[in-house]
Amino acid sequence: MAEEPKETKPGFMNPVAGFGVTFKAMFKKRLTEQYPEQQKTTAPRFHGRHQLNRHPDGLEKCVGCELCAWACPADAIYVEGADNTEEERYSPGERYGRVYQINYARCILCGLCIEACPTRALTMTNEFELADSSRANLIYTKEQLLAGLEDGMVDTPHAIYPGTDEQDYYRGLVTEAAPGTEPQVAVSKGEKPEEQEVEA
Ligand code: SF4
Ligand code: SF4
Repeated sequence: MAEEPKETKPGFMNPVAGFGVTFKAMFKKRLTEQYPEQQKTTAPRFHGRHQLNRHPDGLEKCVGCELCAWACPADAIYVEGADNTEEERYSPGERYGRVYQINYARCILCGLCIEACPTRALTMTNEFELADSSRANLIYTKEQLLAGLEDGMVDTPHAIYPGTDEQDYYRGLVTEAAPGTEPQVAVSKGEKPEEQEVEA
């Protein structure tokens, strides 16, 4: 025979017991975070917005191999690779990522894409404010994801450091742009090449 549940308090005491919980909570330390007025520091290895990295002379590390896109479980990455030429070079090797997009309406910030990248071109930053009310704005383009220029860098496209090859870049032998490096004419760069103004 099933045991009768024990009556611990008379039924009329239940609302009073509820107030007791409220009363105890009044003296506990508040956990309210004053976001966005006060930003909380994220963990150093936080998975935030992605970044496409550059070599120390400004050339891009992405080789347009699409491994990140294939590794993505949410199908959030779109890559189109293209060939470098001596007149228009974006990365030290044969290929570069001409089009690169990440759809943050799909991305779950799992980090599998950065694990798959063979050149460490793709990493994640600590930036987490990615919300937007428009789907179109949640598709980040290569222009938005590409790392900014640091000291010693020249924006792409530009020539490879004289006397070096692709392997030298990965060995860390190139530490800045060669003196006198000039940006080349960008014909195919960007997400919409048809909108680029091509100089005659
Ligand atoms: S973090 Fe995860 S979901 Fe987001 S693009 Fe990379 S692999 Fe895809
Ligand atoms: S980010 Fe890395 S994995 Fe993705 S296309 Fe570029 S080089 Fe390949």
